[in-house]
Amino acid sequence: ALKEAKAKAYQPAITRDGRQINIFANVGSINDVQVAVANGAEGVGLLRTEFLYLGRTSAPTEDEQFIVYQAIAQVLNHRPLIIRTLDVGGDKPLPYFKIGVPEANPFLGWRGIRFCLDHPELFKTQLRAILKASAGHNLKIMLPMIASVMEVRAAKTILNDVQNELRQAKIAFDENLQVGIMIEIPSAVAIADQLAAEVDFFSIGTNDLTQYVMAGDRTNPRVATLVDALHPSVLRMIQQTVQAAHTAGIWVGLCGELAADPLAAPILLGLGLDELSVNPQSIPILKQAITQLSVTEAEAIATLALQQDSANHVRALVNC
Ligand code: PEP
Ligand code: MG
Repeated sequence: ALKEAKAKAYQPAITRDGRQINIFANVGSINDVQVAVANGAEGVGLLRTEFLYLGRTSAPTEDEQFIVYQAIAQVLNHRPLIIRTLDVGGDKPLPYFKIGVPEANPFLGWRGIRFCLDHPELFKTQLRAILKASAGHNLKIMLPMIASVMEVRAAKTILNDVQNELRQAKIAFDENLQVGIMIEIPSAVAIADQLAAEVDFFSIGTNDLTQYVMAGDRTNPRVATLVDALHPSVLRMIQQTVQAAHTAGIWVGLCGELAADPLAAPILLGLGLDELSVNPQSIPILKQAITQLSVTEAEAIATLALQQDSANHVRALVNC
């Protein structure tokens, strides 16, 4: 079955009734990008840029980052590349900034966009590198851990400043570069209509969204059963997010591990996601699953899934 899926991995994922879902890859290195393209990725839906910052004694320079972003964009050859700005903190401390260590609740602490907005110089350096790499390529910027409208506005103000500096210095960048946010905090779901007015796209991060919705640490095995992305509470949050995005006329993807679970494919299709981003190895099977489904059937399954009272009942529903 895997062989068959791999043979068709370069074809688009179109349902039996003609809807195309973009299948992108989650990557964290140049090597991952090569594997993703070889597996039929139509773009990168999540470039985790943490790899550039971790395992060293100081932050990477603008040039170091620019070279990597440009090299990745070249491998992708005009396929979309969604670069997520630095998402350290939580389970990924940065020794040279002493974050993570002294916090009692790192997952509720100083991570993602919170950390970047408090370190504008570090944030600006990354944005400059991304903008410079955007010239002649298909790049998009994605902000992690957004909890409020003010954070989006603050980040966009800094982005605007960097764009003005580049214009003044006559350095080329993509003037139409899209800016999106991750939806991975329950507050962002609740105000998704307000957030949709500020950005070009959403990408739902079910790994964090599930831990925050269920109040269960995603790294703690004792609560692993509870922290299940197929729980109806998480599915309802996905539904609410998709509806807010589509009402506002923006597209919405999903880049949590849930997207790689073949059991989730009919539910996610039925909930109306426009894009799914998964680890490179999961692409062929996911594409095959999508081509075997129809949107009409998937919508009926999603409606039933939302009415279940546990993740296990959702699983039983899609397993038969
Ligand atoms: C997520 O939270 O679902 C996500 C995709 O990001 P990360 O796993 O890097 O936190
Ligand atoms: Mg996350």
